[in-house]
Amino acid sequence: MILTERPRLIAVRAARLFDGVSPELLDAPLVIMDGGRIAAVQSGSHPPPDVDVVEFPEATLMPGLVDAHVHLAFDASTDPVAALATRDTPAVAAAMRAAAATALAGGVTTVRDLGDRDYVALDLRDDAGLPTVLASGPPITSRAGHCHFLGGQIDDNPSAMRAAVQERIDRGVDVIKIMGSGGNITPGNPPERSQFSAATLRAGIELAHRHGIGVAVHAHGTTAIRDAVTFGADSIEHASFWSRSGVDDPGDLIEQIVTRQVTVSATVGVRPGAPATPYPQTAARTPGIVAALLSLYRAGARFIAASDAGIHENKPHDVARHIPPALAAIGLPLPEALRLVTSAPADACGLTGRKGRLAPGHDADLLVIDGDPTTDPTAIDRILAVYARGHRIR
Ligand SMILES: [Zn+2]
Repeated sequence: MILTERPRLIAVRAARLFDGVSPELLDAPLVIMDGGRIAAVQSGSHPPPDVDVVEFPEATLMPGLVDAHVHLAFDASTDPVAALATRDTPAVAAAMRAAAATALAGGVTTVRDLGDRDYVALDLRDDAGLPTVLASGPPITSRAGHCHFLGGQIDDNPSAMRAAVQERIDRGVDVIKIMGSGGNITPGNPPERSQFSAATLRAGIELAHRHGIGVAVHAHGTTAIRDAVTFGADSIEHASFWSRSGVDDPGDLIEQIVTRQVTVSATVGVRPGAPATPYPQTAARTPGIVAALLSLYRAGARFIAASDAGIHENKPHDVARHIPPALAAIGLPLPEALRLVTSAPADACGLTGRKGRLAPGHDADLLVIDGDPTTDPTAIDRILAVYARGHRIR
């Protein structure tokens, strides 16, 4: 006779729970995990007999962080571009694996890599010791354009764009990343300048959507933002309204972004004590960028906050937990700031029902925080435990 015994379930009990959405916390929660999934979320009740309970009496449970804009290939050193240039593909893969592990130890249980080299990020998916990884492969950019050294440069015409999008779809990417404007880390490509004609950008977005794949457009300049919104990009990354001399007024684009439900991905978060940006041109524009982003947020735009981890030394790969305090500092309520790094980016990444919430059926990605991160901005830096798909990481 063969006896098959059901494995005992693991549950975590704490003082309170933030579910990723509601500012109302659940008291005395018990989260029951069945393998990699959440089986039940209860309050105040006694655990079922077949459950082993891990107790955190003073702590808060919350969903694992979802960082919807990272670069695992950039090593968060003083010069990540130069460091990357010295590495061959196996070395890049090793560095990216280490970066992903760093993210996970810091509570980031899902990352969306929006620009690697050689499609290495795709090979990091489905690794039990790493966060859940979504990947774009090399970002599509113009000749000698922003981040051209990642290998995704193309001519500015619709057929070249379609070929680049098709190659990525054939390789199985989760999302297409297009550099719609210049950016700060690539000299010669000012952020206000569009990199592609409207027709080229449109061809890329339309082909991706025909295959059911979302498109994230890096856009600092207002023209690039406008084109991305007009042609139905799923997210605008950075959305800084960067002009040659300062920051543009978003004007009528606010209404368009709200009605078209384009996700605005604000770039937020540095390690504590570090300057918000190493670039003087960004520092000079920060008040204007914050004002533009807040006007979009207050108008009801779909809004998320993501880190761009890896791109400079102030943004290590586990930096996402420093986003909510930064959002609180510009006036957002802390529970709302926490939503913008959990359920909101999960939804923006197409992971609704799987990530970003502590609810039955979702992946068992959860953080145990010492204190209450919905009232104390310093609490989220005190992570007592990280569970990723039911495995305890720390
Ligand atoms: Zn980026």
